[in-house]
Formats: sequence, C-alpha cells, structure tokens
Amino acid sequence: KVVCVTGASGFIASWLVKLLLQHDYTVKATVRDPNDPKKTQHLLSLDGAKERLHLFKADLLEEGSFDSVVDGCDGVFHTASPVAMDVVNPQAELIDPALKGTINVLRSCAKFPSVKRVVVTSSMAAVVFTGKPLTSEVLIDESWFSDPVLCKESKLWYVLSKTLAEEAAWKFSKENGIDMVTINPAWVIGPLIQPTLNLSAEVVLNLINDTLQQLMKMCFMLCFLFLYLNIRAQTFPNRSYRLVDVRDVANAHIQAYEIPEASGRYCLVEKDLHYSETVKILRKLYPELPLPEKCADDKPYAPSSRVSQEKVKSLGIHFTPLEVSLKDTVESLKEKNFVSF
Ligand code: NDP
Repeated sequence: KVVCVTGASGFIASWLVKLLLQHDYTVKATVRDPNDPKKTQHLLSLDGAKERLHLFKADLLEEGSFDSVVDGCDGVFHTASPVAMDVVNPQAELIDPALKGTINVLRSCAKFPSVKRVVVTSSMAAVVFTGKPLTSEVLIDESWFSDPVLCKESKLWYVLSKTLAEEAAWKFSKENGIDMVTINPAWVIGPLIQPTLNLSAEVVLNLINDTLQQLMKMCFMLCFLFLYLNIRAQTFPNRSYRLVDVRDVANAHIQAYEIPEASGRYCLVEKDLHYSETVKILRKLYPELPLPEKCADDKPYAPSSRVSQEKVKSLGIHFTPLEVSLKDTVESLKEKNFVSF
C-alpha cells in the first residue's frame, strides 16, 4: 500500500499523512523544500514515519516534478494548492499553481498504471458560487458547481483558482481514464500538527488575542482569523462560515480512496455557523476571553445556508461537533504558543 500526498507539510495534508501512517500505508510525501525543518520535522516525528514516510521535493509549477514520486504508487492524494485571500497577482500566486499544478499532478498519474485512484482536495469554494441564492431554504449539494465567470467578476481569486482547478481536473481525468474523486471541504478548523499557522485556523485565533496581528505578518493564516472576528472593534461580522474539522477532512480523503464505490465529489460541511454562534460557543468554553459582544450592524442576522450531508454519509464520516473542533483548535494554538491566556 504505497500512496503519494502532495503538499504534505500543509494543515490538512499533515493530518492526512498522520492517518495514512496509522493505517499502515507507505507514504511518499511531496514538499517544496525538504531541507526546511519547519516544513518537515513535524512529519518526520509522526508515528511510523521512520519506517514508512519518504519525502520528495516537488513543485506544482515544474512540469514532470511529480513523476518520480507518483511512479509505483497505488493512490495519489493531491492536496497542494496555495490558500490565500490577499494576493497581488492572482494569476501567478493562485490560479497557475492551482490549475496548472493539478494538471501537472494528474499528468504524472496518467503515466503510471500502478495508480488506481486519485483523490483531489477541492473545496466548497468550487461548489457554492453559482449565482443561486444562499438562504436557509436552499439545500446545497454536490450537483452545484461554482461559475468561473461569476468568481472572476466578483474578484474571488481563491474561489476561482479552486473552481478552475476542479473543472480542469474532471475534464483531464475523464479524457485520460483516471479514477478520480474530489473532497470539497468547507472552511477547515481543528488542531494543528504543523508548527506554522495556516489561514483557516485564524478563524479561531483572532477571537482570542489581538497581538496576533504581529503573527499575522509572519503567517497568512492569521489574517483570516483577524477578519473573522474583529476583536478590536468589539464586534463580529454579520455573516456565517461553513466549517468542518480537519480530522474529518483527512479521514474523508482516506475513505474516498479505500471505498471502491466512492465516486464524484463529496461536500464536507459540519455546519454553517453565524459568528454570533461561534462567539457563544467560545464564551462558554473560555469565559475569561474578551470576546466581541455586538454584531457589526443592526440588521437581522444573515441566514446560514444548509449543505447536504447525504452523500458524504456513504464514506462513513461522523462529523466532529464544532464545539469540539473549536475547543481543540484553541487548545492547539495555546500548546503551540500562538496564544496565551
Ligand atoms: P496549507 O496552506 O496549510 O497547505 C497548502 C499546501 O500547498 C502547502 O503544503 C504548500 O506547500 C502547498 N503548495 C502551495 N503552493 C505550492 C506549489 N507551487 N508547489 C508545491 N506545493 C505548493 O493549506 P490547507 O492545508 O488549508 O489546504 C490544503 C488544501 O485544502 C488546498 O488544496 C486547499 O485549497 C484545500 N482546502 C482548504 C480549506 C481550508 O479551510 N483550510 C478548505 C477547503 C479546501 P509549502 O508548505 O511549501 O508552502
């Protein structure tokens, strides 16, 4: 059982590698810089890593970069893709690595018949931006596909990068007979394995400590948390976020690989949580925290949307309750000294 994980040092991929090693897989993991201990040490310390984890250098934008890694693998998990909201050059920073990178990886998969299935980490970003209203009456499911024109008009560059990448992946896999499944997670939270912050854990972090702004300069993951709840203004935005736990996301990747009948796309959303509800949960967990009291406007709370969990049930995923995910995220941020209270 030999599998490849691209972008192995990332937030989701680190969990995926950990679970794959626990499941006795031999993992060929790609990172951009195998000599950077911040990107590799946490992987090399995982149980089973000494015996069954092999690191490879690969870059999404280098053609053929993944050939030697994918060669001999039974399965490939393609998670690598830049996650950023604030970019100067969206084409170079987001769209090229996401789109060309995905095709680059799939091209390697097409070359080696040992590869039986490819699991691609897409996103709910590639699902929800269709122009259809996102209200509590609507049930979003896997049949939705974001409209690239709409993403471009709205300058949603990260969303565009994920939509174009998934669209191209389906086209390429069909044309080349690749058995591909996509996992489409919502905003992912949960404990960190890697030593650096990733964008989505900011959601929780900025609620807690405004000194995080300094850290924000060091790692863009913090930016999101800063946006998520503007602690300085003591208000929270009038909107909600679709959230899911990183451990469920990693597990869904493995199930999508192992279950022969798995096919197509899988939306992964535990809940669409309004900021007010996030604050309520965190206040209950950490009464000592100075969390925002008021909504940023006086309008009725924006409705949360609903995402079908029907299809993902077939992967046997039992979602971690968000109360647990939020607590484990905060505890992990504390443990890694990103926050102290
Ligand atoms: P991270 O930022 O933690 O990980 C992203 C990974 O992509 C890193 O390992 C990074 O490598 C790698 N990468 C970026 N650019 C390149 C490149 N040019 N060549 C090779 N590798 C590259 O993000 P997440 O773990 O959060 O995201 C992983 C995947 O999950 C992405 O595809 C993302 O779109 C998707 N996703 C994430 C969600 C979330 O909320 N976090 C939600 C939905 C989908 P390096 O370490 O060298 O920078």
